[in-house]
Amino acid sequence: MADVRTGEQPRVPAPAGREPEASRAGSPWATANGATPLPPGRAVAISARDVSAWYGAKLAVSGITMDIAKNSVTALIGPSGCGKSTYIRCFNRMHEFAPNARVGGTIEVDGNDIYAPGVDPARVRQRIGMVFQKPNPFPTMSIAENVAAGLRFLGIRSKSEIADRVESSLKLAALWEEVKDDLKKPGIALSGGQQQRLCIARTIAVEPEVVLMDEPCSALDPVATLKIEDLMRGLAERYTIVIVTHNMQQAARVSDQTAFLLMGDDGAGHLVEYRPPQDIFTNPHDKRTEDYITGRFG
Ligand code: ADP
Repeated sequence: MADVRTGEQPRVPAPAGREPEASRAGSPWATANGATPLPPGRAVAISARDVSAWYGAKLAVSGITMDIAKNSVTALIGPSGCGKSTYIRCFNRMHEFAPNARVGGTIEVDGNDIYAPGVDPARVRQRIGMVFQKPNPFPTMSIAENVAAGLRFLGIRSKSEIADRVESSLKLAALWEEVKDDLKKPGIALSGGQQQRLCIARTIAVEPEVVLMDEPCSALDPVATLKIEDLMRGLAERYTIVIVTHNMQQAARVSDQTAFLLMGDDGAGHLVEYRPPQDIFTNPHDKRTEDYITGRFG
């Protein structure tokens, strides 16, 4: 992977002699840094190898290796500041928006290195969409225009195709029934929970492969939160979902795999344990995970 700031080639070379995608789940690479291999036969959507991230001289994420299964929900938990957000922002090349940001290691999505020379970061961000903590509909746009924004960016001009995709995306985001008669109203006139579902509809309208969600419920009330959680389970049938959450119950409810990150002595986030949530929350292998889930810190 090229250094995003300087264009230099990687400090951390890709592992030699890579196996084909299907057989990689059981490889030694999948077990590095506390990572548990995915169950056999699970296809890998994102393969992150020894990923580190810096803000200038500050190391925020230290050498995290994870395979993220396709059509699943993967949750990242851990105390505030341990690098969860930074790590997932490496997955769609958003980390490089920060001044002097740098990424090391390798990230492949469907077997393609997203930092390879010639890769268009805008295209990466379309294939790997992101939903943020605070719902952020485009303030001057209607509900329909918000969902259509990415389609127009992709060059789709047909009004009927746009209308169809707006409808299908709003349906997938479980918002259609609530807004179908109000499509011309401003997106920001909706409630917080509806705005977040609108942002999810906007993200999936461009048919990404992966949807990253960075604490998508932390600004929402419990009812709106449960709606988004239900939605996530349904969306995982079509997309790969990666969610950062500070809510352990939420990780237990929605995720197929849970990763616990913790800041190390170097001040950067490390992966401590990566396993199915029932194991993480009832039978943690690492004392630090146990201390965290039992509320001893964080
Ligand atoms: P988390 O999502 O686990 O709360 P973050 O990824 O937001 O953690 O932050 C990890 C570390 O990186 C923190 O020390 C934070 O202060 C730092 N950090 C985050 N964003 C920036 C930024 N834009 N510039 C400099 N440091 C940052």
